[in-house]
Amino acid sequence: MKIDSIQNGIVLDHITAGKALQVYNDLELNKLDCSVAILQNVKSNKMGKKDILKIDKEYDVNLDVLGYIDPDITVSIIKDGQTVEKKKLALPTKLVNIKKCKNPRCICSTEQEIPHIFKLTDAENRVYRCIYCEADK
Ligand code: ZN
Repeated sequence: MKIDSIQNGIVLDHITAGKALQVYNDLELNKLDCSVAILQNVKSNKMGKKDILKIDKEYDVNLDVLGYIDPDITVSIIKDGQTVEKKKLALPTKLVNIKKCKNPRCICSTEQEIPHIFKLTDAENRVYRCIYCEADK
């Protein structure tokens, strides 16, 4: 399968197979007015199968969201058909308004103006805890 390469935009590569839609939804790419290509189950020598997202626009991608979903995603910035920059992702140490606390009694659930903040407490197991009530989901 061949998809036209983009001239100016962003390619998110090496997404774990099956996660492209989660990336699409969490980055709210449906709000962009440019074309976005979602490629699923692309053959990869390194990974067996992977997903790829191509965004046909220069766009300030939220690296914390990506790092939280999958820190192994590679982010390439494309200008005039050439890759001009590759960004490395890391597991973010703090999530602000990316994940919502599910504890209905938590202060960030009851008070609208309080942001949802999670801190990384266990990098190996990717555990984040709410800073207000310590709930982990
Ligand atoms: Zn909480």
